[in-house]
Amino acid sequence: MNVHSLRFRLVLWYALWLGGIFVTAGALIYFGLRHYLEHNLGSAQMQRAQRIATLVSRMNLIPEKNLAEEITTRFAPEASSRFIRVSRPDGVVIYESSAPLDQSFNPAQISPPPRQPGTRKETLTDGGELLLATAAASSNGAVRFFVETGESLAPALVELRRLLVLLAVGFVAVAGMALGGGFLLVRRALRPVEEITRSAERITSRNLSERLVVTPTGDEFEHLSQALNRMIARLDEAFQYNRLFLADVSHELRTPLTVVRGELENLVQEECLNSDLHERIGSTLEEAERLARIVEGLFAIARLDVGEAQVEWKVFDLAQLAASTSDQMLLLADDKHIRVTCIAARGAWVEGDRARLKQVVVNLLDNAIKYTMENGTIGLTVAAHDGKTVLEVSDNGIGIPAEALPHVFERFYRVDKARSRELGGAGLGLSIVQSICAAHHGHVEVSSTPGQGSRFRVELPLASTPTEQAGQKS
Ligand code: ADP
Repeated sequence: MNVHSLRFRLVLWYALWLGGIFVTAGALIYFGLRHYLEHNLGSAQMQRAQRIATLVSRMNLIPEKNLAEEITTRFAPEASSRFIRVSRPDGVVIYESSAPLDQSFNPAQISPPPRQPGTRKETLTDGGELLLATAAASSNGAVRFFVETGESLAPALVELRRLLVLLAVGFVAVAGMALGGGFLLVRRALRPVEEITRSAERITSRNLSERLVVTPTGDEFEHLSQALNRMIARLDEAFQYNRLFLADVSHELRTPLTVVRGELENLVQEECLNSDLHERIGSTLEEAERLARIVEGLFAIARLDVGEAQVEWKVFDLAQLAASTSDQMLLLADDKHIRVTCIAARGAWVEGDRARLKQVVVNLLDNAIKYTMENGTIGLTVAAHDGKTVLEVSDNGIGIPAEALPHVFERFYRVDKARSRELGGAGLGLSIVQSICAAHHGHVEVSSTPGQGSRFRVELPLASTPTEQAGQKS
């Protein structure tokens, strides 16, 4: 799980926020209820204390010794788990109920009688909590007795604890539902982002005419897709302009270069030239030829990029083309005593421009020969499988450093500029290969280990054989 993803963070925040609300609401319910229960119990105790106080006020009618009997008969404190104590203002206790039947508190642990009316909460030494109310029994305006009543808070606390457990279970359930529901909601809400990302990934500088799918939802994602589409359209325009510019420039340069080369070739054949001048014209001719090759390369790339390769498409066997091309290049390999093995099983049909695809084989073999030492080996294989025609050129030459691998298909990129120049390269060969593959709906990739060799793999869509095609047409 990606913890940095928007989905994860949104779900986490949502669950934390909902959890926070639940905990706050739970705490408010718990403490509010506890306060309410204590307040109610306090009022009930005070009412009871006042009723007993009224009874005790009539003590001049009842002898003090009858008090215990009277209270037990009327209020049964032990049976109803209550505490009752009557004391004089000087602190002398004249009645105190005994321990309740359910042993919910021990009267001996209760502090001495207070000297004024009111309610109080006492924590006994055994940890139990007691709520006590004190009322004054007066006659003729003078306080004669203080009456205390009390009750353990334990039953109320048990209920509160049950509520707490319920709240905790509810919290876990709510948190689970919030996480699950939040995940589903966020996934649904962010689905358009995934779609936009997927279609955006498909768009490269080679298919800028494609656009993102715009779902007419009227939401922010629709606006985002439209804005991105407008941006892609502007990029497409800029790229088209660049391609056309490159095509125009390289086309315009071809004619004057041909004239320059022709003139230089004529000049170099002049017999009246001294050897120094002859040499200088010769090297200028070499540079002009190099320049012509670069311009031709650029012109080829530009034509492929503006989509002109489609004109001469035919179905043919790439295996046969690769085999004949490698035969033609054997002389070049022989110069360096390089062994070229070609394993090309017939039936690797492709649809495309024969001359361009021949150029792919030539460029890859040419590189393999250039960058392989004397007595090296080069392998060329062509095979058709899984709906693809795969051509591979491998060598045991100098290889390509890992940091250079992602750049070798870029225009004018050369790992070792001086060496490549020396070998007649301008860094356009692989760019042309890539452009031709892309124009044929295929692609080229490379793997290499410095010092051990390189492998270039071209994948093209397998075409149906000419007989199949004829069958389809009829
Ligand atoms: P160049 O005309 O310089 O050969 P390419 O575009 O054909 O240009 O190749 C780009 C660079 O990739 C080359 O300069 C070379 O460093 C490297 N390269 C290409 N093919 C091979 C190979 N078979 N072995 C080693 N390096 C290679």
